[in-house]
Amino acid sequence: MGLLRNSLCAMALFAASAGNAATLLEPTLHLKPQGVEGGGRVALTLDACGGTTDTRILSALVDNRIPATIFVTGIWLKRNAEAVEIMRAHPDLFELENHGGRHVPAVDTPRKIFGIRSAGSPDAVQAEVESGAAALAGAGGPAAKWFRGATAEYSPSAIAMIRRLGFKIAGFSVNGDGGSLLGAKETARRIGAAKDGDVIIAHINQPTHAAGEGVVQGLLALKQKGMTFVRLDDAEGVGNDGTTD
Ligand SMILES: [Zn+2]
Repeated sequence: MGLLRNSLCAMALFAASAGNAATLLEPTLHLKPQGVEGGGRVALTLDACGGTTDTRILSALVDNRIPATIFVTGIWLKRNAEAVEIMRAHPDLFELENHGGRHVPAVDTPRKIFGIRSAGSPDAVQAEVESGAAALAGAGGPAAKWFRGATAEYSPSAIAMIRRLGFKIAGFSVNGDGGSLLGAKETARRIGAAKDGDVIIAHINQPTHAAGEGVVQGLLALKQKGMTFVRLDDAEGVGNDGTTD
């Protein structure tokens, strides 16, 4: 019995540590479906992690009057003044929100996520969130209300901290471009298949990737179907894992 208890204990410990290693959350976010005939509404969220601006997407949004929520980092803001100016010139279309100061995953233990080193401590997560908000405040415009961490994965304790700092956390329900690594066709298919209430994630900072072309095609297909686009601030988004309540 002692042996059994010990091995059960060891198993429990193993399960607990395996659990800890695996407890990163990738929260979802949905809008309340409208249930209207023909279309409905979706939220387009685009991450500007670093790098430059995909003007194919930016122009298509302006030309077709498609509103979007853009998650920008401090790094991206610094290098893309022209794109920021275009977004600020269309406040009816673009809402800029917080994607962190340095594009460091909001995970408060040291580890790597998709090859990116996590913030690694509660203090570092807080610094990432607050420096992102400060960069946005420095670029003018309204204060950020939403946060999305690099890689969109979080430790549960980081989610609680980000909520205490006053931000809602922006999950998603449609992974439109697979981190900007999908081909144009598959990206267009995924985005074009979005349903009433979906929150789409894609990227606006990879002008050389084929995915950007697919983002534009998918959005135009949705518009053609009569889908309405809303920004996160204009809708009651409901997230899981304590991200919005
Ligand atoms: Zn990012």
